Amino acid sequence: MIPITVVDVAAAEELVLQVLRSGAIAQGPMVKRFEDAFSGVAGVPHAVAVNNGTTALVASLQVLDLQPGDEVVTSPFTFVATLNAILEAGATARFADISDEDFNLDPAKVEAALTDRTKVLMPVHLYGQMADMGRLVPLAQQHGLALVEDAAQAVGATFEGRPAGSYGLGCFSLYATKNITTAEGGVITTADDTLADRLRVLRNQGMRQRYQYEVAGHNYRMTDVHAAIGIPQLEQLATITEARQRNAEALTKGLDGVKGLRTPRVLPGRTHVWHQYTVLITDDAPVSRDELAAKLTEKGIGNGIYYPKTVFDYDCYRDNPNVVASEVPVAERVARQALSLPVHPKLTGAELDTIIGAVREVLGA
Ligand SMILES: *Cc1c(COP(=O)(O)O)cnc(C)c1O
Repeated sequence: MIPITVVDVAAAEELVLQVLRSGAIAQGPMVKRFEDAFSGVAGVPHAVAVNNGTTALVASLQVLDLQPGDEVVTSPFTFVATLNAILEAGATARFADISDEDFNLDPAKVEAALTDRTKVLMPVHLYGQMADMGRLVPLAQQHGLALVEDAAQAVGATFEGRPAGSYGLGCFSLYATKNITTAEGGVITTADDTLADRLRVLRNQGMRQRYQYEVAGHNYRMTDVHAAIGIPQLEQLATITEARQRNAEALTKGLDGVKGLRTPRVLPGRTHVWHQYTVLITDDAPVSRDELAAKLTEKGIGNGIYYPKTVFDYDCYRDNPNVVASEVPVAERVARQALSLPVHPKLTGAELDTIIGAVREVLGA
């Protein structure tokens, strides 16, 4: 069996034990150490650690002081947390279609989704490749929108040399399957001193000093146990990313030109960190995407469909006035065609060959 993802946190044993033995296991010096290292990854002065990627998004929206009726424009092709965070923050979600070049917000479609209530543009850097920030940033500026990046899948990715999480409020997930992990965890990165300060206060019950409450806050804190899991991985981030990039290159070399399959692209000026390696199974393929997925599973090759539907296309959102569904034909098609193959850093050359051989066989190539 070749799994779609492998978790390796062995390097953290010593540091985690150190925290456990210290008896100081909640948020403390290890979280601070993790934050200091993480801010370097996003190339900004501030990294605020929280308990997961979803709360990173919620907290980011909360410090922007959104009012009921204020709108956030985001991608319809994303993990459900993106949408749930917008709703949790009391805002209204609108969607602009994606581009099938990078699976991210298509800047040409964003303007049509803007209204006089739009306050935030929330691009999602899906699969580890950043959205077209070269066009999205000017759009946000023109319309006076705050930028919240859902960078959950894009730790270490860059756009024209500038890292994910450096544009406004950058939201990262450290969930077990993400490129680096603390089991559960999240981080918000920003260059804005005021927002960073507000995030730190908000995360800790709205408290600046003991019993000095400034806002109605929350408990969004990360623990030192979790931070200790993440620190060695931050040190290995370059190695982890390079292994993913090498694996993606090998997959593309082996799969390019197969009829009915489109390999993922790395667009000019962007570095891809390959959280997922996602191919499109097009209509001229001899089998459907779902048939290919089932065949690969039969052969012991892990695979995943991220995501099978557009994010708002579920009954639980159907009658929600804060979820404004729209026509997103590209996202709908990609949701029918996308299939992710293993690209994790532990893959061997032989396993890569097995994956390539199995896909080619099922597609008759
Ligand atoms: C994982 C993920 C999140 C949520 O992160 P959690 O840590 O699981 O809460 C949000 N958005 C995207 C795109 C993700 O992949």
